[in-house]
Amino acid sequence: MATNRTFTMIKPDAVANGHIGNILAMITNAGFKIVSLKLTQLTTADAQKFYDVHAARPFYGELVEFMSRGPILAAILEKDNAVEDFRTLIGATNPADAAEGTIRKAYATSIGENAVHGSDSDENAAIEGAFHFAGRENF
Ligand code: UDP
Ligand code: MG
Repeated sequence: MATNRTFTMIKPDAVANGHIGNILAMITNAGFKIVSLKLTQLTTADAQKFYDVHAARPFYGELVEFMSRGPILAAILEKDNAVEDFRTLIGATNPADAAEGTIRKAYATSIGENAVHGSDSDENAAIEGAFHFAGRENF
């Protein structure tokens, strides 16, 4: 059964480029409620662990380097059908393929530096949310 929470990060590129406010506005205007929110930075080990599923991919090293190079905004979001609806809101991994009106269409600059993360399943949303937030940080 689908749960109603997903996990996101505004990635180092979008934080550095000053897009936190505009991206949060897109998220809340789309009907997502903020359950948890934190400006933080991944260590190399954190990024390796978070993206372990991609460890064998050619872009893994670059991805770990990028995701740990500066602050990120981590958040847990709530809405009916959260995982699927949030993937629709962020758009395709490659901004060249992202639909008009999506966050990646507006703010991603490349397939690697693509502004936002969105969980791909309810199971991963729970794992990724717990990776960043203690229970008492969920509201
Ligand atoms: N990525 C990359 N090159 C690729 C595919 C992915 O650098 O060819 C990066 C990109 O930052 C992406 C992340 O790895 O967001 C995770 O990849 P995934 O296929 O899970 O894409 P997503 O779920 O983020 O759309
Ligand atoms: Mg993914």
